[in-house]
Amino acid sequence: YQGWAVRSTNEVLQLYAAHGQQQKVQRSSVVTQLHRAIKRLKQDLKSLHSFALELSKDFRRQSKTCLYQVLAAVQGIQLQNEAMQMFQIKAFDLEQSLQEVTERYEKEKQKRRALHNSLIELRGNIRVHCRIRPLLPFDDAAGQSISQDRQRNFSEKVAYASDDETVLVKCSRPGHASINKIFQFERVYNDSESQDAVFADVAPLLTSLLDGYNVCIMAYGQTGSGKTYTMLGPQLEGNCAFSIEDESELGIIPRATQEVFRLISEKPPGSYWVEVSVVEVYNNEIFDLLAKDSYGKVFGVKRDVVTTREGKSDVPLLTQETVENASEFLHLVSKGLQLRVQHPTLVHAHSSRSHLVVTLTITTVDFGDNFGTSWEDEQTSQRLNKEVSCTFPQKMRDKSTSSSGTSSPVQLEATEKMKQVKTRLQLVDLAGSECVGMSGVTGAALRETSFINRSLSALADVLGAIAEQRSHVPYRNSKLTHLLQDSLGGDAKLLVMLCISPGQKYLTESVQSLGFGTRARQVQRGQVKKKYFPVPSKAK
Ligand code: ADP
Ligand code: MG
Repeated sequence: YQGWAVRSTNEVLQLYAAHGQQQKVQRSSVVTQLHRAIKRLKQDLKSLHSFALELSKDFRRQSKTCLYQVLAAVQGIQLQNEAMQMFQIKAFDLEQSLQEVTERYEKEKQKRRALHNSLIELRGNIRVHCRIRPLLPFDDAAGQSISQDRQRNFSEKVAYASDDETVLVKCSRPGHASINKIFQFERVYNDSESQDAVFADVAPLLTSLLDGYNVCIMAYGQTGSGKTYTMLGPQLEGNCAFSIEDESELGIIPRATQEVFRLISEKPPGSYWVEVSVVEVYNNEIFDLLAKDSYGKVFGVKRDVVTTREGKSDVPLLTQETVENASEFLHLVSKGLQLRVQHPTLVHAHSSRSHLVVTLTITTVDFGDNFGTSWEDEQTSQRLNKEVSCTFPQKMRDKSTSSSGTSSPVQLEATEKMKQVKTRLQLVDLAGSECVGMSGVTGAALRETSFINRSLSALADVLGAIAEQRSHVPYRNSKLTHLLQDSLGGDAKLLVMLCISPGQKYLTESVQSLGFGTRARQVQRGQVKKKYFPVPSKAK
């Protein structure tokens, strides 16, 4: 048992020793492992540290680069801004110089126009203005026999104002290459130009009317081209009177009258008076549209045109009504216009088949004081002495006679001292210039048309004879030219207002009108004479 016990104790001791050994071995291996782990951690930490260092260095490097880039970009933007500002300044400079050049161009253009006007005045040229009206709904309505394709062609626009002095016409015929024809006039109005714009160029002529010149404005063109619109304004349905509702639409005749009365209102009162006559030339007959029957009703009376001993044309017994303001004039002329003979043609339903001549006679009175001396010129006035008529209209006679009906010596002296000069404004709305075939008329209307054609060719012949300075000018070939003899022959500043329909359908007629205008423009009649007050003879 003791032996057993010793052996067991030994064994226990051995086991215990072995266990201790084992534990010792185990502990040391853990320590070693820990040691290794710590070493690794230390290394990791070290590399982490160096990585962090590297990272911060890199960050600093990169942020520096970024900063440089940002600075460079900012500088770039600043440069661009400066460049932009430079460009803006340059653009502004260019704009300013463009404006200056445009202004200078406009001034030069005006100067050239003024010079051209003086030249026209010196040569006694006929001014020709051309107005192209807009395309209108009735331009589409072609004859029934015309195919749809051609009809579409018909309403195509072929006449344009390429600038304010040039008309361009596209001439094309089937199977032929189209060609552009160019026509030049003193002024060309495009289809959007207003009645105001047209009148603005006419107004200066009215100033010269009061300065002692005769003036004649006539509208030429085919039916439906805008003659009546231009001269009177838009017409009411079936009525040839003024539609005064919209003043901006009024044509040359009412505006010219307003302007004449405006100019007169600036002169000494009583020094001017205005008489009106309205005449129609229909089938080569002259009708007085203001003549009244014994009941005072207006009706057209046939009159004749004669040549006076002084070689002037005159219509004896023509009714001359004195008017004192523009509305009196409009009222009177509207009444006369109701009588204007009309006949519908295929071209336009309200075409006028007659020539209309509205004449304003302005009598200027010199009461013997110094008023009007600017008009005096001895040589011319001696010659014109004969022209001066000494008949006063009723209203003036009433003013100059005393209530007892006999003139006192003082009044007689005053009347003797009083001198007067007449100037004349003729406003003409010609009948349509189209050819017979175009309108498709027959019978009585054909007769009308042939009279119109004859009178318009007589007009062209007269201008041709003046242009060629022929000794005989055939004024008496038609009543129209006989009536307008003085104005055509160089006694008046003459303005022809060509009216043009822009559609392909009217190409032939438009080219004919433009040709008429071009020929008229070349006529040189010698300087238009100014009317002067007669100078009292030296013996007096
Ligand atoms: P004409 O007297 O030459 O026969 P009108 O003056 O009667 O022609 O014009 C024909 C039509 O065209 C009318 O209905 C008129 O109102 C219109 N018209 C003419 N010219 C113009 C224009 N410039 N602007 C607008 N309408 C116009
Ligand atoms: Mg007309």
